[in-house]
This record gives sequence, structure tokens and C-alpha cells, in this order.
Amino acid sequence: MSCLFCKIVRREVPASIVYEDDRVLAFNDINPQAPTHVLVIPKRHIETLNDLTPDDDQIVGELSRRAAAIAAERGIAASGYRVVFNTNRDAGQTVSHIHLHLLGGRSMEWPPG
Ligand code: 5GP
Ligand code: ZN
Repeated sequence: MSCLFCKIVRREVPASIVYEDDRVLAFNDINPQAPTHVLVIPKRHIETLNDLTPDDDQIVGELSRRAAAIAAERGIAASGYRVVFNTNRDAGQTVSHIHLHLLGGRSMEWPPG
């Protein structure tokens, strides 16, 4: 499997890991766009949000709750943060393994560019 994030899960590519359990991995983005920029991923390869099935409802919930927990640890839960699943070309998805961006530590614009 040539997927970059699967390689990070298998420790074939190094990453700054901030959380791990049996199903979820979270690591700092290599090119951070905010003081906190963490990617929260399922260990199981799922290409895009379009590929989710009802069997994935649990893992998507876990990704969301983990992002909120990391935001709390970083002290940005109350001030605010953004979570994003970029999906396919128009949203700028560059890695085809779903990842929840957790961005925070600065104020952000809406709508995004
Ligand atoms: P996307 O554009 O697909 O939504 O997000 C992919 C993210 O992965 C980007 O924010 C990019 O900086 C990050 N990224 C790409 N390659 C690596 C890598 O090797 N290590 C880490 N930690 N992040 C990466
Ligand atoms: Zn993968």
C-alpha cells in the first residue's frame, strides 16, 4: 500500500504523533497553517468522505471526539477551533486517506478560500 498516511500508521514514515489508540492516530501537520494543526486519521484506509458506509459511523465519531479532546488539551476548546475534511480536488484533498484537520490557536476567516 503506497498511501502516505498508511505508512505513517505503520511507522514507515516518521511523524510527530500526538495521540494513538487501536483505531485512531493523530499527528502534527508537517506544514502547519495555524499554531495548532493536527491531522486526526483512522488507522484503517478510507480514501475520501464519499467512501464512508454506515459501518464507519463509529470511527467518524471517534475522529470528531478526538479532535475535540486535543483542542481541550491545547487550551483552545473555549476560544475556538476549526475541523475540516477536505474532499477531492475542489477542496484541495492531496492525501487520499481521510484526515480531520484540527486548526486553532488563531482567529480564522469565513468563508475559507
Ligand atoms: P489535504 O490537503 O489532503 O486536506 O491535507 C493533507 C495534509 O497533509 C496537508 O496539510 C499536508 O501539509 C499534510 N502532509 C503532507 N505530507 C505529510 C507528511 O509527510 N507528514 C505530515 N505530518 N503531514 C503531511
Ligand atoms: Zn491510507
